[in-house]
Amino acid sequence: MSFATFYQRSIDDPSAFWREQARRIDWHHPFSQVLDDSRPPFAKWFVGGTTNLCHNAVDRWVGTRGEQPALIAISTETNTEKTYSFRELQDEVIRTAAIMQSLGVGRGDRVLIYMPMIAEATFAMLACARIGAIHSVVFGGFASNSLASRIDDAQPVLIVSADAGSRGGKVVPYKGLLDDAIKLAQHKPAHVLLVDRGLAPMEMVAGRDVDYAEHRRLHIDAKVPVVWLESNEASYILYTSGTTGKPKGVQRDVGGYAVALATSMDAIFCGKPGGTYFCTSDIGWVVGHSYIVYGPLIAGMATVLYEGLPIRPDAGIWWSIVEKYKVTRMFSAPTAIRVLKKQPPELMKKYDLSSLQALYLAGEPLDETTSSWISEALGVPIVDNYWQTESGWPILTIAKNIEDKPCKLGSPGVPMYGYKVRLLNEATGALCGANEKGVVVIEGPLPPGCMQTIYGDDRRFVDTYWTTQSPESGRPMYSTFDWGIRDDDGYYFILGRTDDVINVAGHRLGTREIEESISSHPNVSEVAVVGVEDKLKGQVAVAFVIPKVADNTTKGRATLEAEIMRVVDKQIGSVGRPARVYVVGLLPKTRSGKLLRRSIQAICEGRDPGDLTTIEDPSSLQQIKDALRG
Ligand code: AMP
Repeated sequence: MSFATFYQRSIDDPSAFWREQARRIDWHHPFSQVLDDSRPPFAKWFVGGTTNLCHNAVDRWVGTRGEQPALIAISTETNTEKTYSFRELQDEVIRTAAIMQSLGVGRGDRVLIYMPMIAEATFAMLACARIGAIHSVVFGGFASNSLASRIDDAQPVLIVSADAGSRGGKVVPYKGLLDDAIKLAQHKPAHVLLVDRGLAPMEMVAGRDVDYAEHRRLHIDAKVPVVWLESNEASYILYTSGTTGKPKGVQRDVGGYAVALATSMDAIFCGKPGGTYFCTSDIGWVVGHSYIVYGPLIAGMATVLYEGLPIRPDAGIWWSIVEKYKVTRMFSAPTAIRVLKKQPPELMKKYDLSSLQALYLAGEPLDETTSSWISEALGVPIVDNYWQTESGWPILTIAKNIEDKPCKLGSPGVPMYGYKVRLLNEATGALCGANEKGVVVIEGPLPPGCMQTIYGDDRRFVDTYWTTQSPESGRPMYSTFDWGIRDDDGYYFILGRTDDVINVAGHRLGTREIEESISSHPNVSEVAVVGVEDKLKGQVAVAFVIPKVADNTTKGRATLEAEIMRVVDKQIGSVGRPARVYVVGLLPKTRSGKLLRRSIQAICEGRDPGDLTTIEDPSSLQQIKDALRG
């Protein structure tokens, strides 16, 4: 079947299309309706059907593939490697589920997971899925304030964490940050379950903190049946950044997500049961949820969970993993490839990479140089794919297993089945033609697997994402907040965000969150944070600060910069730390007081600052230029 036919069926008759795809997973009770679209923009998929993500990822395979590797946990930080078969994975997940139940966790309860890339993090996610608890994984790179705001929003009954992570051989203690976060948060979890890796000392809080190893022993022979969930119950919440300082809890369902992942694993990722999938992301991001944990396991593949840097002990480490575990499909981000590109090329050539069939890259724009370099070095197709935390699986790419359409350099590809992608002229609200820049929007209903709502805030979901209607059908349209352009062949090109979200090394960050953190420094009067182009990381955060009391000596500025960086490290984590802090006397604003971030960003990148008819004081732009020069 051509991809065009496959795609058109998904658009013309979504119910028939997705009914067919739904056969890819196990249902305990069949659904009575494929799509309930009676309350747009809220879509319900596979209504009345009951299923379970843990069953489909683990239990389902134990009968036929019980001894096959399921989880390969590798840490070059602690020099450990352990493979769990599907049977062993099931045992561990059941033990973790039993611990959770003994701590009072039940269906619909939230469990916050703040963990390094260790096997227990995966057990915890799957254990939640098994008992119908809603997990919320918070990226281990976030610090106390970021963590506290997520604790307050999700209100978890249990937090699962560890003594520490490790990065580049340096121990990153988690427990202290977590204790601080719980102190800062209004909501207090009843229990904290802690994995002691022996990396950092931990002070256990009596009555609240529980040791994982000790409780695992208590539940070594536990039996915890799968809890069958209605397809539209929530499976997880994953916080992501937006325009305001308050992160959005993207909420996902059970059945739609399982079907979407199973379909994508076949159609897009050509995953075959028995193969090995190696996704280098982190479980704290959506790519980790979909393509480290759930997707590969649902497809009956072994999945590699890797803790460590791509260049330690040397830049051959990933390729040695590919050789050793016969990795068939690999998924990474452009920044990581740019890091590898700086390393001696022979390290790549040392290993037998014949098992590898394709490399998928996502999370940020893929530049042509990086794409061509890695494609030549590996000798396999490089498949760019564009999507978001909100979508859960690719929106634009090439579905190689449906039709091996050519990739175009610089383009992630064409709209995937189920996604009615359009480009909207921001000023007129009209749909754009070919080669005309517009906002990438998707006509509702969104396909299975996409976000259901913002956790606890349906209003915010509607008001944030669904502010436009299709001029063709009048239906609500979802905004991706990305600029895009489509060529004559229907290939899309992504041109950056339309909002105040920045993308640093594939990590999505809100400039508002960073600004709020910097504002808490006692000597900061006003601040603007923008994302500025960077050769290695795609973008970096740059801050412009108006101090309350200015010390214009070099030392004074350096001290303030260092202090601001420390504040951000402590509150958000080093992931949000600005690359540079500039001191200015004035910031460019409109007469109504709105920061002109796009103009600041343009100046930083040596571009024209754009339409300035509404600017309050044009001399502020000169101040930005002077600061950059000085
Ligand atoms: P996240 O929600 O963290 O996955 O970030 C999603 C954002 O990353 C998108 O809205 C885009 O701005 C950017 N992005 C993701 N994948 C790509 C890609 N393949 N090409 C260009 N931008 C991308």
